Amino acid sequence: MNLKLLSGVAAISLICAACSEPATHEETATPTPEPVLATPVTPGPDVTADLETFVAKCDSDFANLKSKIEAIEAFKGPYTVESVMVPLNELDVEISNAYYWPYITTATQPDEAYRDAAMACVQKFIPLFNDLGLSQKIYHQVKEIDLTGADVVTTFMVEETIKSYESSGVDKDDETRAQIKALNEEIFRLSQLFDKNIRDDVRYVEVEDVARLSGLPEDYIANHQPDENGIIRISTSYPDMFPVFSYADDDQLRYDMRMANGNRGYPVNENVLRDLLGKRKELAQILGYQTFAHLAMEDRMIGTPERADSFIKDINALVRGTAELERDRLLERYRQIDPTAEMVMPWQRGYISEKLRAELYAYDSQQVRQYFQFDNVKAGIFQLTQDLFGVEIRDWDTPVWDPLVSAHEMVENGQVIGRFYLDLHPRAGKDQHATHYTLRSGVKGVQTPMSVLVTNFPGGDGTPGLMEHAQVETFLHEFGHLIHNMFSGTQTWAYVTGMSMERDFVEAPSQMLEEWVWDYETLKTFAVNTDDEVLPRALFDKMLAARNYNRATSVAGQTYLAAESLAFHTSDPETIDFDALSTELWETYSVYPSVPGTHGWASFGHLAGYSSNYYTYQWSLAIAADMFTRFEAEGLRNKQTAMDYRTKVLGSAGSRPADDMLEDFLGRPFSVEAYAEDLKEAAQSAQ
Ligand SMILES: [Zn+2]
Repeated sequence: MNLKLLSGVAAISLICAACSEPATHEETATPTPEPVLATPVTPGPDVTADLETFVAKCDSDFANLKSKIEAIEAFKGPYTVESVMVPLNELDVEISNAYYWPYITTATQPDEAYRDAAMACVQKFIPLFNDLGLSQKIYHQVKEIDLTGADVVTTFMVEETIKSYESSGVDKDDETRAQIKALNEEIFRLSQLFDKNIRDDVRYVEVEDVARLSGLPEDYIANHQPDENGIIRISTSYPDMFPVFSYADDDQLRYDMRMANGNRGYPVNENVLRDLLGKRKELAQILGYQTFAHLAMEDRMIGTPERADSFIKDINALVRGTAELERDRLLERYRQIDPTAEMVMPWQRGYISEKLRAELYAYDSQQVRQYFQFDNVKAGIFQLTQDLFGVEIRDWDTPVWDPLVSAHEMVENGQVIGRFYLDLHPRAGKDQHATHYTLRSGVKGVQTPMSVLVTNFPGGDGTPGLMEHAQVETFLHEFGHLIHNMFSGTQTWAYVTGMSMERDFVEAPSQMLEEWVWDYETLKTFAVNTDDEVLPRALFDKMLAARNYNRATSVAGQTYLAAESLAFHTSDPETIDFDALSTELWETYSVYPSVPGTHGWASFGHLAGYSSNYYTYQWSLAIAADMFTRFEAEGLRNKQTAMDYRTKVLGSAGSRPADDMLEDFLGRPFSVEAYAEDLKEAAQSAQ
């Protein structure tokens, strides 16, 4: 989505990869005459193109878009929805179709030269997008449109377009606009660089004795045998690193891992971050905002940094006491291992926490893993989607970029309504995160949606790919974004099909969907071990009892990150001492000591993608909790509730304010009360 991606703030929103593209449902959308034809299932990009073809395609797309923009700018009227917005809509579609695949390629392509070419391609587009976002000619055309008789969605879309142009600085003089454009480009380049530095900085801890892997799962040890020189290398990639924190008995090993991970992106990202924050601040000031956070929050549900700050503090206050209790309980347990311990350090927390959990709740997550074999989990998530929303997911016979990538299509009433690729297992050079990427936004009558999921789950290597329950939750979360993209492709205007909805809403549907991996009826359909035994109810009950275990600590950690992303964007970039500020906030929001010698902010990738707005995760959890109240009351398998949700929330996204759509679904305004209640209940169960 497009005009939005053009303005400074919007360029940011596009970088934010962890998100999906929402859209609208035709219930509210009756825009310009639209043939009652099925939306065409258009071909996707050439995902197996060689480097030369890829670069040539990028160049020709660029030239094509440039000439289209010039043609639109040259139009002399009369200015109507038909004459102005329809060509702009076509342009929007072409822009995203040209841009999304190169963008995704930067995270999926194993070959470094190819990845670099993809990034160069992405960067090549940015000036063009900025020109478009600051085009006075197009802005004046849109402003001139007479909206008399236009339907409500079209009116909303045109008004939002005008607003977006104005907040980008379109009405400034030539010199200022040139400055804004240069800043936007610089911000984009620096954000990409910040991310790339993190991605490329994979560190290793070397171990010379298998005995030091004591405590780790058998399959992990089997996969980490010494090389010809007798060295075992453990990388900071997630599947390598996290088991060390949870299970390794060797305290030094966990400490080394923490140090390795806590220094990723450092020191190279220090100047990059300083420059990035500096450019953002400059842009905000030119556009008349006090800080970049004010600019970045203006079109969010939350509205202002002041409101975000008090929201973050409120959430922290709700969980702080419990987080302290949780910490003290871990310390008590740790003293059984080290009677002289005075505190639990961050690299010890996961390990002790895992032990105590096994004792308190009489199960360990190793046992649980036996029931989550990758292929079954994948099939189970497909089945859940089919059951809830009445669609069918089938294989899609198409080339893929890696043998482990699978391709699928979603079908409803015999028609393909969307397609997606799943790139779910680790490989060298691939992004470390779990991310949903929109590859095509669905636009009614033009194209059905396409998505790409990129994760690093076990499996695909001939093993059963045993997953942690938390990984199953992540899978469903990311799949939630995918579902959102699939179901949002029913709007005619590309502008309201995509990310034009408030970005602090976007995580909520995925977060709500996580509730289904805590539903036994759902789990028992796919949680089966290699002997075909279903996850026992008694074991599930223990997992459920343990669900809120150390939850306050984790929420407190999230408020720390939210506070950091906000503080970095409201402080003076020239004088900010990242380590000092970060430590100060850690001590305010977390209940654990900080670890000297680490620089976590240097690999806090969300600073690029989410800028000041990391609060989004907690905010959208509040929305998720509120939306879930309806499923709780009406049943997790209630098809009617699911359909209402699909229509009013998933499908309705960009065509009206999120507050309206929530009110429509809930029958009352959205409130953070349900989330506060959840946290209070969790606190009680933790005591
Ligand atoms: Zn997400």
